[in-house]
Amino acid sequence: MEKILDIKDLKVSFHTYNGEVQAVRGISFELNKGETLAVVGESGCGKSVTSKAIMRLLPTPPAEIKEGSVIEFDGKNVLKMSQQELRELRGAEISMIFQDPMTSLNPTMTVGRQIAESLQIHRGMNKQEAFAEAVKMLKLVNIPNAENRAKQYPHEFSGGMRQRAMIAIALACNPKILIADEPTTALDVTIQAQIMDLIKDLQDKLGTAVILVTHDLGVVADVAHRIQVMYAGQIIERGTKDEIFYNGQHPYSWALLRSVPRLDLGNKAELYSLKGTPPDLIKPPVGCPFAARCEYCMPICREEMPPVTKLSETHEVACWLSHPLAPKVESPIKTGG
Ligand code: SF4
Ligand code: MG
Repeated sequence: MEKILDIKDLKVSFHTYNGEVQAVRGISFELNKGETLAVVGESGCGKSVTSKAIMRLLPTPPAEIKEGSVIEFDGKNVLKMSQQELRELRGAEISMIFQDPMTSLNPTMTVGRQIAESLQIHRGMNKQEAFAEAVKMLKLVNIPNAENRAKQYPHEFSGGMRQRAMIAIALACNPKILIADEPTTALDVTIQAQIMDLIKDLQDKLGTAVILVTHDLGVVADVAHRIQVMYAGQIIERGTKDEIFYNGQHPYSWALLRSVPRLDLGNKAELYSLKGTPPDLIKPPVGCPFAARCEYCMPICREEMPPVTKLSETHEVACWLSHPLAPKVESPIKTGG
């Protein structure tokens, strides 16, 4: 597999009045060409900070990238790029879409012009060519009546259509990487599913690699190739979609899986909700960061950080339960319906 992004030992802190918040605590991962990698975890786990760090979109200060490297496909370290290099990278090579398109769309410009503008800047098209291409992009993201819609303003679009327009803008310059941070969280369930289908479909067509950031494991079930679960600024488990869904090993992954609504279980299944809150990242615990909320916690969990256990070529977990001397615990996840 061809690696197009290689993140090594990334550490990001925020300087606050109360002290230094260690938001991302030494994570390493790769993104391969054409794949969808889902980064999953609850709010504050460091997933959005990670995706913003990759594009150098964090305000410094208060943020500070303490350590690490983000090597992109050309072998360059994004963390060392000049402002000029970053401008060329953003939009043209790596694009990002956010939860709320209204904050990223320009309300004073027609949707067509907004797409066209990025094509003029990054692909050197003239005004007419760029506009024609913008209409094509709107068709590609399934906006009906694209010629007329291109001449409308964002407020004339529904929420779902605005998110489609954002995707059209993000993909207009045919980037190698799309980072989608909670792209469907503000939308209702039916539209969510449509947007996810669209991302999947476009990825098949355009070959874009996608980093999909979400708090909701259910959302990624159909689109992700690999899943990486984050907790308290660290990656606590990662694997292929099947490894996480059918053979997840970390109690936190189990908690996330148990909070996904299951159609096959209908109303009978009560949705699980994880109690407690993540640890304070100004003084992160010395042992397992999940210990305070974990029903399987053992004395060693509070004393020592669990080592990473490799379960397959693609599956890794950081939990003492995977230690050969640990008691055998059965996963609470019922699979196969
Ligand atoms: Fe729970 Fe211990 Fe595993 Fe942490 S290391 S998730 S506390 S069993
Ligand atoms: Mg976020």
